Amino acid sequence: MAKTTKHCSFCGRPESQVDFFIMGQDGVHICNECAVQAAEIVKENTSTRSKLPNLHKEQLPKPVEIKEYLDQYVIGQDEAKKFLSVAVYNHYKRLMQEKTNDDVEIEKSNIIMVGYTGTGKTLLARTIAKKLHVPFTIVDATVLTEAGYVGEDIESILTRLLQVADYDVKAAERGIVFIDEIDKIARKSDNPSITRDVSGEGVQQGLLKLLEGSVVNVPPQGGRKHPDQKMIAVNTQNILFICGGAFDGIEKKIASRLNTRVVGYGAAAENDLIDKKNLLQYIAPQDLKSFGLIPEIIGRLPILTYLEPLDRVALRRILTEPKNSIIKQYLKLFKMDQIDLVFEDEVLDYIVDKAIEFKLGARGLRSITETIIMDKMYEMPSQKENKLHITIDYAQSKIEKTNINRLKIA
Ligand code: ADP
Repeated sequence: MAKTTKHCSFCGRPESQVDFFIMGQDGVHICNECAVQAAEIVKENTSTRSKLPNLHKEQLPKPVEIKEYLDQYVIGQDEAKKFLSVAVYNHYKRLMQEKTNDDVEIEKSNIIMVGYTGTGKTLLARTIAKKLHVPFTIVDATVLTEAGYVGEDIESILTRLLQVADYDVKAAERGIVFIDEIDKIARKSDNPSITRDVSGEGVQQGLLKLLEGSVVNVPPQGGRKHPDQKMIAVNTQNILFICGGAFDGIEKKIASRLNTRVVGYGAAAENDLIDKKNLLQYIAPQDLKSFGLIPEIIGRLPILTYLEPLDRVALRRILTEPKNSIIKQYLKLFKMDQIDLVFEDEVLDYIVDKAIEFKLGARGLRSITETIIMDKMYEMPSQKENKLHITIDYAQSKIEKTNINRLKIA
C-alpha cells in the first residue's frame, strides 16, 4: 500500500509545503502556520470580550468610602473630594441602570476642578483611579490641536483609555478620563468676534463632541490620523470626563463679577462676607466663560468644584501624614539599608518654610527634602552606621549651599 501523505486538516497543504505539523487524535494535523493563525483568532476574541467583572450594587464603594480612601492620600480639599466621590459613585450607578419604562435616564455629570497648580488635582485623580473598577487615564490638554495643525488630534484622548483597557472597547466605553490643563485650550478672548483663535476654540469644539457623547474614530496608536491607519470606533456616551486646570488669573474675573453683583441694595452685607484671600471658592460657570471656555463646553461640565490653596498647616501635614508621604518614603528608603532615619521636628517646619519662601508649593517639599539628605543617601550605604539624625543645623547648611533655581526645576 502506498504511503499516504499527511495534510494539514485546516489549510489542506501537504507536509512538503509547511515547516512542521502538530498532530492531534485520529490522524488530524495542524500546520505551524495555521496554529499561529488560530492563536491570533483566540487572542482577538478574548480581548474584544469585556474582561471587566459585572458591577453589583453591593460591591460599589459608597461616596463616604471613596472619600475616606482619598483622605488617606490627599490632605484637605474636602469639597473637591466630596464632589469627586459622588460623581464616581453616580457614574457606576449610571453604568448599572437598567432599561425601564419610566423614561428616566440618568445622564452623566462630567466634572471640572479649578485650583492652583500643585494643590492636588492630579493627585486626586490618580488616587481615585486606584479605587476604581473601570479603566482610567490622565491626558494633557496642551498636546491637543485642531485637525490640520501640528500636535495630536482630539480623538487621541481616547487612545490612552483604549490602551489601559487593553483595547477592550466595551471596557473603555465605561471608563473615566482625566483631562489635565483644560484651561490651556481656553479662547484668548471672551468675545469670539474679535479674534478667531484656532488653538483654543477649535479644540474646544472638538472636545465638545467627546463630552456630549458620540461615536468617534480613535487612532489605536495615538498621534495624528493618517489615511492607512485602521481606526477603532468608540462611543463616548458613558465615558466620564473629569477636567482640571489652574485657570491662572481667574480670581480677577471672579472678583469683578462679585463686585458688580453686590453693587446696590445689600451690597455692604455681602461684601463683608467675601473671603478675598480665597476667591476660587466663589467660582461660577460664568467665570469660566469669561476666562475663555465656550458655553457649550461649560454646559457639558455641570459639576464645578475648586481646590483650596495650600497653607503652611496643609504643607506641614502633606510632608508626613499621607499614606505615602514624602518623609515616609525616605524613611523606607533608608530602612532598606538598615538605617534608622530621624528628622527633627524643626527640620520639617524648615522644609515647609523654604517651600513657601521659594514659592514652590507642595511640589517643592520633595526637592527640598531631597537636597537636604542627598549627601547622606550617597555616603551612608557604604558606611557602617545605622542611625541618621537630621538636625536643623545640618538641614540649613545643605539648603544654604544650594542654588534656589535648582530646587525650582526639580
Ligand atoms: P496639580 O495637579 O494640582 O497641579 P499635583 O496633584 O500634581 O498638583 O500635586 C503635586 C504634588 O504635590 C503631588 O504629587 C503631591 O506630592 C503634592 N500634593 C499636592 N497637593 C496635595 C494634597 N492636597 N495632599 C497631599 N499631597 C499633595
